[in-house]
Amino acid sequence: MSWEQLRSIALQDRAYREFWASQPPQACPNDGTPLEQGPDGSLFCRMGDYSYPRDGDPAAMGGM
Ligand SMILES: [Zn+2]
Repeated sequence: MSWEQLRSIALQDRAYREFWASQPPQACPNDGTPLEQGPDGSLFCRMGDYSYPRDGDPAAMGGM
């Protein structure tokens, strides 16, 4: 394996991380319930304990 191959793998890995970090969460970080979309475009947990972006990004909070 060459340095060029290693470098391209590292760049690809970073691109994937940035892509996923920019995605809204799919499920409630508290109970794992799939989030539903409200009329204003926000995402919310039907259990009422989490809303995105109101309650922030779970990735940024250190979870997931
Ligand atoms: Zn929840």
